[in-house]
Formats: sequence, C-alpha cells, structure tokens
Amino acid sequence: MKREDIVALDKRHVWHPYTPMGPYIESADPLVVARAEGSRLFDVDGQSYIDATSSWWVALLGHRHPRLVSALKAQADALCHVALAGITHEPAARLAAELAKQAPPGLGRVFFSDDGSTALEAAIKIALKLHVNEGRPDKTTFVALEGAFHGETMGVTSLLGIEVFRRPYARALMQTVHVPTPARDPNAIEALEALFAREHAAIAALVLEPLVQGADGMLMYDAAYLKRARELTERYGVLLIVDEVFTGYGRTGTFWACDRAGISPDLLCTAKGFSGGLLPMAATLATERVFEAFLGAPERAFHYGHSYAGHPLGAAVALEVLEVYRDEHVLEGVAERSARIERGFRGIAERHADTRNARTLGMIGAIDLAPGAHYLGTLGWKVSAEARKRGVYLRPLGDVVYVAPPINIPLGDLDELLSVVSDSVAAALRE
Ligand SMILES: *Cc1c(COP(=O)(O)O)cnc(C)c1O
Repeated sequence: MKREDIVALDKRHVWHPYTPMGPYIESADPLVVARAEGSRLFDVDGQSYIDATSSWWVALLGHRHPRLVSALKAQADALCHVALAGITHEPAARLAAELAKQAPPGLGRVFFSDDGSTALEAAIKIALKLHVNEGRPDKTTFVALEGAFHGETMGVTSLLGIEVFRRPYARALMQTVHVPTPARDPNAIEALEALFAREHAAIAALVLEPLVQGADGMLMYDAAYLKRARELTERYGVLLIVDEVFTGYGRTGTFWACDRAGISPDLLCTAKGFSGGLLPMAATLATERVFEAFLGAPERAFHYGHSYAGHPLGAAVALEVLEVYRDEHVLEGVAERSARIERGFRGIAERHADTRNARTLGMIGAIDLAPGAHYLGTLGWKVSAEARKRGVYLRPLGDVVYVAPPINIPLGDLDELLSVVSDSVAAALRE
C-alpha cells in the first residue's frame, strides 16, 4: 500500500491514544513505520530513525531481537492460548519460577495479566481484598505521589497525580491521597509519615514509581526515600505496591529500581520490557504473606483474571527475555551507555542556556525546555520535529525532552542519538 493511502485510511478511522485528533487529522504527517530492527525504525520509504524512547518504553532489548522472535515462533507452533484458571502450561510455570528468582527477596508468587495498567489494577484489588479477608475492611484509601502515573483503568486513574489525566474522572474515583513527591519536595518523607500517623487505619496501600516518575517528565528522586517509605509502611501496617513497569528490567541501571534501595515491597508490578516489547503481558508479584491472605474459604480467593492471563506466547517470550539478559550480560553494558547519556545531557545543558534541570539515571536522560515544564507544553514537539529531520524518532513529554533508548543500543547509535538531540534542541530554540 502507498504511504498516502495508509495515512488516508488512518485519518478516516483510527482514534489515536494520547492524541488531540483535530490537529492530527488536519495537519499531522505521521511516521508510517514498515519495519524495525534493533534500535531503529524504518518507514515505508526505507528511511531509518533511531527510536529514542524504545517505542513507549517497551523495546528494552531493541526491536525484533532474533532470540525473542524465534521463541515466539516456536511457541506459536505449539500452543498460542489457553485459559490459566486452574489449568497450566510449561511457559507460565517456568516464567513464574524464573521471575521469583529474579525478583527482590520474598516475592515468590506471580499473578499474570495483560499490561502495566492491569498489573496495577490487580495489585490495588489484591490490597483491598487482603484487608477485607484479614478483618480490616476500613482500609480503603490509597496513597500516591503528586505527579504519579500508573496506567489507564479507572482504579488506576484514582492514583494518578497528573491532573490532565485525572481531573475529568475525579468525581467517579476511589479515595486517594496524593502526597508531595521527593522529586520536588525535600520534606516529602515527613509529609508521608505525618499522613500515616494520622490516618493509617484507613490506608490500604502506598503506591510508588521507584526512583523515576516517568510520565510526569522523568522526575528523579533518591533511593533514601524508598528505603524510608518501606520502613514507614511496615511500621504503620500499610502495604507497599511498587510500580516497576517503566523502571524494571534495567532501565535505571540495576535490574529493578528497588535493588538500588535494597527494598522488597509487598507487591511489585512489571510489564513493558517484561515481554521485550513483543506482546502485551504483565505480572504482579506478591509475597507469601499476601498470598496466604487469600487461602481458606472459597470466597476469600482472588476472583479476578483476564482472558489472556499468562498466555503461552507472552510467557515463552518473557522467559527468553530473562535468558537474553543473562547470556548477553545486558546490564553490564549499561554503565558505559549511562555515562555517555550523562555526558550528552551535560553537554546539552552547557550548550543551551535556556534549558533547565538536565538529569540522568541509568538509561534515561531528560532536560526541561521551559520553567515548570508542562505536559501540554509544545516546545518538546518542536524538538521532535527537528529530530525527525535528522533521523531520530523522539516523543517528548510536553516541554520535557528525554531519551530512554533500548538498553542495549549500539554505542554508535547512542552517540548519534545524543548529538541529534543536542542539534535539535538548538534548532528548535533558535526559532
Ligand atoms: C506505562 C506505565 C504504566 C501502564 O502500562 P500500560 O502497559 O501502558 O498499561 C503503568 N505504570 C508506569 C510507571 C508506566 O510507565
């Protein structure tokens, strides 16, 4: 099919996620991607683009890693789908066992679902029902950070601390208290402690994106907050749910962001890099103590599950993902790449006096183009347009420009990416 015909059909029928459709239909000239390989996308004309943000943070091992594609094909030849309610199959059983080994200590039970949102949705429902089963039905309030992002379902929407995403639904949501984020407030931990001291009897769980709040503009904070928050949840009988959907699988330099703080939560959610960017697939990991609260009479069980839970294709790929991390020593390559990202963003900050808050952690580099960088800001989109002319696909977060490339991106591609970002910022700010 010709490029114009694809775009015409798209504009006539596709309702794009996170996209103001009026301007899109009127004037967008979308990238039409035909194939992808490693850290590059190729459009229908064969032009290549470095994928600066791993296709919405999922392609951590790059696109179409040959071992993942083979694992998918082999599994498709045997079994694509079967329900997971009370029956099982080898890929799900082996994946759960491998995840338990890879997880922070104590998280030995694995509940499968479809994507980051459902991994979080399962976690909040587990938290609520655990308290019901244990005779504390009043613990129904959740605590989340200002600027938090945890996905899309209505339960999860309650947790969101980004007002554009939350406000339209606010009157229909569960009870949630948003506390100051350690990324912006040096007294965040004191605020959390004060809240717990006052209201712990009503609080079901604290939900955190560990070390990096991605969607609110790659806000970063110190591991010390995580450690202290873990102590406080234990002291006050509040469950800790850690959302590693973005940070897991080496994004911050260690396999889990939790590893940097040396903590284990009660529930840990993983998706995105979990299935290497090939298929929707997610997991909510739980401790034995959480799991045991659902044993006993049948009504105590977790009556919840998605049609595709633990599907064999996703499970086979997710197992292979873990093996690729081991065999290819993926995390060992992060230090060098991370150092280059740090140098690159320091360089951008020095070159462009109008930018602010250059920050990096592991395989993430970010910089603000305007004070109080806003999600609906437009400066990042100007940089994105410049980057596209220079062979880089870069989706900004409003006024925040960031890179979060595949964590095994070839060094040559990474250097090219960083210099294109710098040149694109220059071109966009000059206008
Ligand atoms: C992307 C994301 C989610 C939602 O995951 P989906 O797969 O898009 O549903 C949840 N939490 C965090 C931290 C994320 O970055």
